[in-house]
Amino acid sequence: MDEKQPIPIDSGGDDRGWEKRFSVLSRKILGGANRGHSRSTFFKSMLQMLHDASQCDAVELRLIEMGRLQHCELNPNTERAFRLILLPPRRNPVDELIPCIGQDNAKEQLCQFVVDGCIDTSRPFHTTYGSFWTGDTSQTIDIGDGRTQTSKKRKLRIGGNFPSLVVIPFSFEGENRGLLLLKSKRIDFFSRADVKYFEEIAQILGVAIAHWRAQIALQERVKELTCLCEMANIAGRPEISLPEILQETVELLPKAWRFPDIAAARIMCDGITYKTPEFRGGLQSLYAGIIVNEKKRGGIDVAYIRKVREYDEGPFLKEERNLIDAIADEVAVIIQRREAEEEKEKLEEQLRHADRLATIGQLAAGVAHELNEPLANILGFAQLVSRDPEKSETISKDIDKIIAASLHARTIIERLNLFARQSPQKKGLVNLNRVINEGLYFLESRCTKAGIEMLRILDPDLPEIIVDQGQMYQVLVNLVVNAIQAMPEGGTLTIRTTRRDEQIGFSVEDTGVGMDDEVIKKIFVPFFTTKDVNEGTGLGLAVVHGIVSSHGGEITVESNPGSGTIFNVSLPLN
Ligand code: ADP
Ligand code: MG
Repeated sequence: MDEKQPIPIDSGGDDRGWEKRFSVLSRKILGGANRGHSRSTFFKSMLQMLHDASQCDAVELRLIEMGRLQHCELNPNTERAFRLILLPPRRNPVDELIPCIGQDNAKEQLCQFVVDGCIDTSRPFHTTYGSFWTGDTSQTIDIGDGRTQTSKKRKLRIGGNFPSLVVIPFSFEGENRGLLLLKSKRIDFFSRADVKYFEEIAQILGVAIAHWRAQIALQERVKELTCLCEMANIAGRPEISLPEILQETVELLPKAWRFPDIAAARIMCDGITYKTPEFRGGLQSLYAGIIVNEKKRGGIDVAYIRKVREYDEGPFLKEERNLIDAIADEVAVIIQRREAEEEKEKLEEQLRHADRLATIGQLAAGVAHELNEPLANILGFAQLVSRDPEKSETISKDIDKIIAASLHARTIIERLNLFARQSPQKKGLVNLNRVINEGLYFLESRCTKAGIEMLRILDPDLPEIIVDQGQMYQVLVNLVVNAIQAMPEGGTLTIRTTRRDEQIGFSVEDTGVGMDDEVIKKIFVPFFTTKDVNEGTGLGLAVVHGIVSSHGGEITVESNPGSGTIFNVSLPLN
C-alpha cells in the first residue's frame, strides 16, 4: 500500500481540475444509482468508487434506514473485502437513532459527536461543515463540545489500524442520517482539501442513495402490479376453474420475489394445496392468510429454498410483506367472486328448472283435459256393457279390466291436474303437526309390515300456517310412500317439523337406497320414475313440487346412493 500515492486533491488554486474530478465522480455515483441494483451490489459499487477516488485503504458507510443501522465497509486488504450488515443503531441522549454502532469506544463516541453536530468547528480537526478529520489516531484529540459551548474538554484517543481518518456526516431523504468514513494506514494521508472534496461528494451520495431507494421501491411496485395484473388476467379467463386459477397463481408468485430462481410458493385453500414443485415445509417463509367474508379459508406461503445472503435485510423485503398481503386479498376477492357466480348459476338453474316444470305442467293440464272426455266415454260405455246380463264370463272379466284401467287413468289425470294446479286451492289455518299425525296414521301399518321404524320429531310449538290441508296431506303421503318404497329391506323413517325464523320446515328422511346425481336431476319431472309400471307413475314428486311452490315454499333433496335420502320442505309462515 505504501507505494500508493494520494491523488493531489488539493488543487492549489487549480479550480478547474477540482471541478472536473468532482463532476466525473458525481456523475459516476448518480449513474450507479440508476441501474436498479440490489442493495449489496449498489453499496459495493458506491464504496468502490469512493475507494478508487480517495486512494485510501478502507471506506465505511453507515445509514439509518427503517429503524436499523446499515453498515457497509470496503477494505480490499481483508479476506472479505466487502461486507454489509444490519445492526441495531445507537441512540443519542435525546433518544434519536444515529448511525453509530452500539459499542462505547472512542471511535463510536467520535461518530456520535459528528452526527449530533457537537463538534467545535473552530478546532483544528474539524471543518466548518461539521466533519472530523485527523492524520494520526494514536494521538489524544481534544474535540471540545460545540453544542454546549462550555469548552468542556472531550479528549479521545481513537487508536486502531488507520491513523488517518475522516468522518463526514450527510443526510438523505431529508430526515435520514448517514456517515461516510474514509480510512488510511498512512499518517497524515488526507488534506483539508480532500476532506472538503469528499464532503461535497457525500452530499451527492445522499442524493444517489435516495434515488436508488426510490428506484427499488418503484421496481418492487412494478413487480407487484405485474403480478396482480397477471392474476386478474388468469381469473378473468372464461371457463377457468378455481383450482386452475390457484395453481396458475401460485406459479406466478416466485417471479414477483427478489430472488425468483430460489423462490417457491404454496397456496392452501379449503384444505387443498397448490404449490410450485420446489416448495417444501420447514423453510422460512412469508405468510398471509386468505380471508373470504371474514372466514379464514387458507393461506399463501412464499419461501426461499436456499439461504439468502443475510446482509440483504433479512430474507424478505418490507415491500414483499405488503405484496403477499395484497396477493392474499386478491385471491380472496377471486374466490368470493367465483362463489357468487356459482351461486347465481345455481339460482338460474333452479329458475330454469321451475320454468320447465311449469311448462310441462301447462302441457299436462291440456293433455289431461283432452283425455278426460274420451276416458269418461270409455268408462261410461264399459260400465254400460258390464250391466248387460247376457255377456259371457270372459267378456265380463275383460270389461272389469277396462273399468279398472280407466279408473287408474282417471287418478293419473287427477294428479296431473293437481300438479298443474288446475284444481282450486282451499287454504285455511292448519296445524302441520296434526296433518302429519293423521296422515301417518294410515301409513303406520304399511311401515310395520315392511320392517320400518317410524320416528316423529315434531316441534310442539309449531305455529299454525295458512295452507291447503288436503294438498299438505298429499305432499306428506307422496314423500312417505317414496321413502317406504326406497327401504325394501326395512330401515328408519324420520319425519320432522321445525320452525326457522319465518319458515316452517318439514322433512322426510329415510335410510333407503338413495339416489345418484343423474336421478336427482330428474325426480321432479312428471312421469320420471325408476319403478315398475304398477309401482310408480312418476308423478308423486312432480305433484309435491307443484304444491310446495304454489304455497311459496321450497323443496330440496339430499341423497347419496346407499345412504338414504332426505327431502326438506320449507313453507313461509305468511
Ligand atoms: P314414482 O314414485 O311414481 O316413481 P316420484 O315422482 O314419486 O315417482 O319419484 C320419482 C323417482 O324419484 C322415483 O322413481 C325414484 O327413483 C326417486 N325417488 C323418489 N323418492 C325417493 C326416495 N326417498 N329414495 C330414493 N329414490 C327416490
Ligand atoms: Mg312416488
